[in-house]
Amino acid sequence: MSALVLVINTGSSSLKYSLVDADSGEKRADGLVERIGEGTGVITHHAADGEHRVERPVADHEQALRAALDAFAEHGPSLHDADIRAVGHRVVHGGARFSSPARVDDELIEAVTELVPLAPLHNPANLEGLRVARKLFPDLPQVAIFDTAFHQTLPEHAYTYAVPRSWRDDHQIRRYGFHGTSYAFVSRAAADLLGRPLEEVNLIVLHLGNGCSATAIEGGRSVETSMGLTPLEGLVMGTRSGDLDPAVPAHLHRQLGWSLEEIDDALNKTSGLKGLTGHNDFRTLEKLRADGDEDARLGFEVYCHRIRKYVGAYYAVLGHVDAVVFTAGVGQNAPQVRARSLSGLERLGVVLDAERNDVRPDRPTVVSAEGSEVAVLVVPTNEEWEIARQTLAVVDAGGGPDDTGR
Ligand code: AMP
Repeated sequence: MSALVLVINTGSSSLKYSLVDADSGEKRADGLVERIGEGTGVITHHAADGEHRVERPVADHEQALRAALDAFAEHGPSLHDADIRAVGHRVVHGGARFSSPARVDDELIEAVTELVPLAPLHNPANLEGLRVARKLFPDLPQVAIFDTAFHQTLPEHAYTYAVPRSWRDDHQIRRYGFHGTSYAFVSRAAADLLGRPLEEVNLIVLHLGNGCSATAIEGGRSVETSMGLTPLEGLVMGTRSGDLDPAVPAHLHRQLGWSLEEIDDALNKTSGLKGLTGHNDFRTLEKLRADGDEDARLGFEVYCHRIRKYVGAYYAVLGHVDAVVFTAGVGQNAPQVRARSLSGLERLGVVLDAERNDVRPDRPTVVSAEGSEVAVLVVPTNEEWEIARQTLAVVDAGGGPDDTGR
């Protein structure tokens, strides 16, 4: 029987899709529909014979998914012949309700809708994805994979903010954490590389992409993570500030008269590396830094310093650390970030090997020195494969929505 899963990830104006073999991780095709609802949409489809780019009107997410299906029909592989088993959806916020993937049904859609106030930028787009995929694939099982689910193991003392009870009880204000599918995939692959059962290893995993977060993982369970109620807290990111004195928004409001929406927007979209250097893409920052640009130098230092602080903090949370693991675009491709963030930590047992670290690996790789008490690993993440695997696991378990861990 085939293990093919169509993985869908919807943003407010984009829809990413890939056809993944959940057993092998092989991607049969993938693509991106951009500029949904902005006049002319752009569809980029990758199939066996290369890239195909088409422009056509894409008014909404339904038209976007139809455009993706047309790309499959035109450039292959044929979805008709592919024997797809299920559709797997990335959903950003599952609140405290979802600690595992769940079959999509009316009740789940209602629950995800109730969580919109916690993720006003993401969940509405994810809901559109669920709605249109159910309409266009009425006979296929659909599974929602939540970014927050992996962190539902956080202990109470780690997820609780020191705020009044009514905020916590009536408004669900607490730390949730994100990048869960990446952490699930990377922690398993890291344990494999160490040659030890996941249940026996303690890891500090640094997911450094456009969004960045750190997680302390004890025996496969998330026990502390840097993103909070929303993905704004924690490390310095491409366009998000990460940690900040909570008094800053009130200060800006008093000084500049900015609305909360304007401040929220600026902290999410024009802060982080973009705010520090004018650029959110790490490659651009590195070019500028090589040319002696002062903002790029400072941006790099602030970025790495924040990572170092979290490594130290999570070391203390875990007590014993087997490996520090780098993943995602920057984590995998920027040896200088790994070197700078971990320099001088020999007393903690963390010793990088400069030559081994000089890599941009496409498979799990050890970059620490021989005999380093704490291993340093680079593990490419593969969120689509993880979504496909979790989707099929739910489908194969055969349960209805009520026995999928809700
Ligand atoms: P992701 O969200 O995982 O796709 O990661 C995106 C980030 O990775 C962007 O900031 C890119 O600039 C960065 N990135 C991708 N390739 C490289 C590279 N070769 N060197 C440095 N950063 C990279």
